[in-house]
Amino acid sequence: MVLDDLGSSLRGTLDKLRGKSRLSEEDIEEIVKEIQRSLLSADVDVSLVMELSDNIKERALEEEPPAGTPARDFVLRIVYEELVDLIGESTELPLEEQTILLAGLQGSGKTTSAAKMAWWFSTKGLRPAVIQTDTFRPGAYEQAKEMTERAEVDFYGNPDNDDPVEIARNGLEETSEADVHIVDTAGRHALEDELIDEIEDIEDVVEPDTSLLVLDAAIGQGAKDQAQQFDESIGIDGVVITKLDGTAKGGGALTAVDQTDSSIAFLGTGEEVQDIERFEPDGFISRLLGMGDLSQLAERVERAMEQTEIEEDDWDPEDMLQGQFTLNDMQKQMEAMNNMGPLDQVMDMIPGFGGGIKDQLPDDAMDVTQQRMRTFSVIMDSMTEAEKEYPKAIGASQIERIARGSGTSEEQVRELLEQYKMMEKTIKQFQGMGSDKEMQRMMQ
Ligand code: GDP
Repeated sequence: MVLDDLGSSLRGTLDKLRGKSRLSEEDIEEIVKEIQRSLLSADVDVSLVMELSDNIKERALEEEPPAGTPARDFVLRIVYEELVDLIGESTELPLEEQTILLAGLQGSGKTTSAAKMAWWFSTKGLRPAVIQTDTFRPGAYEQAKEMTERAEVDFYGNPDNDDPVEIARNGLEETSEADVHIVDTAGRHALEDELIDEIEDIEDVVEPDTSLLVLDAAIGQGAKDQAQQFDESIGIDGVVITKLDGTAKGGGALTAVDQTDSSIAFLGTGEEVQDIERFEPDGFISRLLGMGDLSQLAERVERAMEQTEIEEDDWDPEDMLQGQFTLNDMQKQMEAMNNMGPLDQVMDMIPGFGGGIKDQLPDDAMDVTQQRMRTFSVIMDSMTEAEKEYPKAIGASQIERIARGSGTSEEQVRELLEQYKMMEKTIKQFQGMGSDKEMQRMMQ
C-alpha cells in the first residue's frame, strides 16, 4: 500500500512517545526525520516532503496540546491533519450520467482501470459503457472486451478501424443507452507529441466531464512531467493509482496530484475487475497510520454479502457480530471473505490489525483457500445441525463419525475445528472493538 513504510515506521516512533505527556524538541525532530525518510523512499517529491515536514514541525512546536492529551495522540493528530491536507479530498464523481476520459502511458493500467471503474459504477446502480479507442497497442481491444464481459458492462471497440477519434464518436453513439461512458485511450512508452495530439482530438469529440490520469504506483519522479503535460493538453481532474498491491511506493502519484492540483479518484489493488477502491482520504490515512479503515471495510463487507447471495432472513452478519459465532456462520464468512479479496488486505482495514498484529497470526489464519473451503463444506455436510450450532460440544467420537461420513480424515475435521476457533477469536476481538469508538479515542 502507498507509504506503507510510513505507517509502520511512524507507528514505531510514535510508540516511543507512549506515556509521555510533553514532547521535547528532539522527539519532534525524530518524528519529522522519520516522516521525511519514509516519504522520500516512497518517491514523494522532495519539495513536497519538506513542505509537509516543516508544517508538522511548526505545529508540534507551537501548538499547545489540549490538557490531558498524551503527546503521542497530539502528534498523531497533527500528522493526520497534515497528510489529509496534502492528499486532499477524493476526485468528485457524482453518481449520474457522465463521460470520463482516461489518459496515461502504455502499461499504466488504463484498460484494466476502465473495466474496473465501469464495474464500480455498475455496483452503484448505474449503466456504464467502456469505449476502447486504443488502436496502438496490439491486444488492447481483446483485453477490454474480455474484461468488460467479466465486469458485465457495455463495451464498444472496433479492431478494424485505426482511427481512434472515429471510434470514440461511433462508440458514444452505439452505447447511447449507457449513462456512464468511460473512454479508454492509447498510451505510448513515453510522452510523444503524437500521443498528445491524439488525446486532444479524442477529447474534442468526447467532451469529458472528468479526465483522469492513470499512473502506476511504482512510477517515481517521472510522474511530475507526465502529469504536467497531460494537464496542459486536456486538463487533469484526478488520478487513478494502479498496482498498489505490488509496491509500497506510490509517492510519484502523490506528486502528480500536487502537480495537477487535482486529487485521487480510485486505487487499483489487483488484476481482477473487482480490485478497485474509491479513494477515501480519511480512511486511507487512518489505514496508513495503522488505525484501520472502518468505512472501507463496511463497503467491502456489504459488497461481498451481495455477491454471496445469501438470503437475508437466512443469515444476518449483524447477528454474527453481536451473538454466538457458529460453524454455519463460519461457512458463510469464508464464502464472503473469498468474495472480498485476499484476507490480509481485508485485515489491514480492521482497526488494530494493520500494525503488525496480522504478522503474528499463524499463516493458516490467512489461508482460506477455495480448496480448504470445499473440504470444510464437505465435512460440515456430515455434521448435525446441533453440532454446527455448538461446535464446542464436538468430541473425539463425533470427530471420528464426521470424518467417516464425509470421507475425510480426523485430522481434517480437527483442522476445521481449529480454523473455527481462530475465526471465533478474531470475531470476538472485532466485537470488542466498538467500531468507531476506538477511532475516536485515538483521534482525540
Ligand atoms: P494500459 O496499457 O494502460 O491499458 O495498461 P493495462 O490495463 O493493459 O495494464 C498493464 C498491466 O498491468 C496488465 O498486465 C494489467 O493486468 C496490470 N494491472 C493493471 N492494474 C493493476 C493493478 O491494480 N494491480 C496489478 N497487480 N496489476 C495491474
